[in-house]
Parts: sequence; structure tokens; C-alpha cells
Amino acid sequence: MMIFMKGICKSYGVEGMEVPVLFDVDLEIREGEYIAIMGPSGSGKSTLMNILGCLDRSDSGTYLLDEEDVSVLSENQLSELRLKKIGFVFQTFQLLPRETALENVCLPLVYAGVDRAKRKELAAEALKNVGLGDRLDFLPSQLSGGQKQRVAIARAMINGPKILLADEPTGALDQTSGRQIMDLFRQLNREGTTVIMITHDRDVADHADRILNIVDGRLRGGLLSEKAGEAK
Ligand code: ADP
Ligand code: MG
Repeated sequence: MMIFMKGICKSYGVEGMEVPVLFDVDLEIREGEYIAIMGPSGSGKSTLMNILGCLDRSDSGTYLLDEEDVSVLSENQLSELRLKKIGFVFQTFQLLPRETALENVCLPLVYAGVDRAKRKELAAEALKNVGLGDRLDFLPSQLSGGQKQRVAIARAMINGPKILLADEPTGALDQTSGRQIMDLFRQLNREGTTVIMITHDRDVADHADRILNIVDGRLRGGLLSEKAGEAK
């Protein structure tokens, strides 16, 4: 199993009070799946995404990524794991505003220790693959929302991660741009990437092969043996 979560709980401390956000989340995801986690605003989706992406830790429960218990890893080991295994896409793109599209996509390669000439070559290729071969030297402010998200996807995939983790990837986009992003996700999934998409939008979730619902921090049907997920 690529992702195995059992009994994941998470609270936030706010003004000395513990506010529970995730309750006993169980989740299994196989390599090569395209899954959507759907729930209303405030249901704990981003909290779960941050834990899935090893950006944050749970308070209790087990999380195995590729059979490896991530709870025992140091911060450095976690950032290395993220760099190698996970590509992130966010609603607000999270591009560096003063860097060109090409430089934004190059950035993970800097951390991966790839030399400058090779970085430019790989990033240009990645931007070409998302239909932005003619926008390499544009700043984010000179790109449309859909184009920015495609730059973000090129950046997310530049190190060849096995997993693409997307939090409301079309939340800031019009329908046409949103559809282009969904086409890209489908293509990446066909090429073997495990896609985990988080959304509040049923129409967006419908692009995935399996949809799980999260309500008030409780995820339903996350274990494949339960067969409670909505198979399509
Ligand atoms: P969603 O992404 O589904 O909208 P979130 O995971 O962002 O939900 O938030 C779930 C709940 O956790 C909300 O009630 C939110 O207020 C709370 N929460 C999220 N992040 C924090 C934080 N850093 N500190 C305190 N509470 C938080
Ligand atoms: Mg959120």
C-alpha cells in the first residue's frame, strides 16, 4: 500500500484550548490511484493534506508512506522525502512572484542538486509539456490563473514524484481553466502518478476514480477493505 493511515488524530491549540480537527482517520491509497477527498469548508481537508504531504504531523495514529513510518523521521528526512516523493499544488499557486515561470519550475531542481544548464533544460521541457513553452520568461503577474496553476503543476512534477497532492487546485480558476487542470491531472495519472485531490466541489471530485467524503474531521470509507468509498 502506498499510503496507509490508521487512527490519525489532530488537534490545534488555540489560546490554551485544544481544538480537535481530525478524528480517527483511516485511509488507504494504492499506487497509481486517482482519488478525491471531498468535504465542506472547515471539515479538515487541508489539515489532512498537510499530514499526507508530511508538512505536518498527526498527534496520534499510524501513517505509513511506502511502508515507512513517517512519525519517526526527522525534519530533514521529511523534507528529503517530500522533495523526492510528493508534488504539491495549492489553490493559490504559491509561485515566487519575482521569478519567471522557468525559474519557478527550476527551484526544486536546485534543492535536488541539479546543475544550472540541466535545470533550465528540464524546466523548459516541463513547461512545454503543460502547454507553456512560449511563456518561459513570463512573471506570474503576467500569466492568467490557469497558466499559473500549470506552472505550479510543472514545478510539482519536475523531480518526478510518485504522488501529486493538490489542495483545491481549481478553486481560484474559471471553468475552462479548471477543465484544463483536470485534463492534466488525468494525463499525469495515466502516466503512473498517484493523484490525491482535495476539493469542496462535487463536479471537481467527479474527475477522480474514487471519492471519499470528510465531514467534521471524520473521513468515511477510507479503508479499501470497507468498500464504502464510492467506486465509480
Ligand atoms: P478545510 O481545508 O476543509 O477547509 P482545514 O483543515 O483548513 O479545513 O480546517 C479545519 C478546522 O481546523 C477549522 O475549524 C479551522 O479553523 C481549524 N484550523 C486549521 N488550521 C488551524 C491552525 N493552524 N490553528 C488552529 N485551528 C486551525
Ligand atoms: Mg482547505
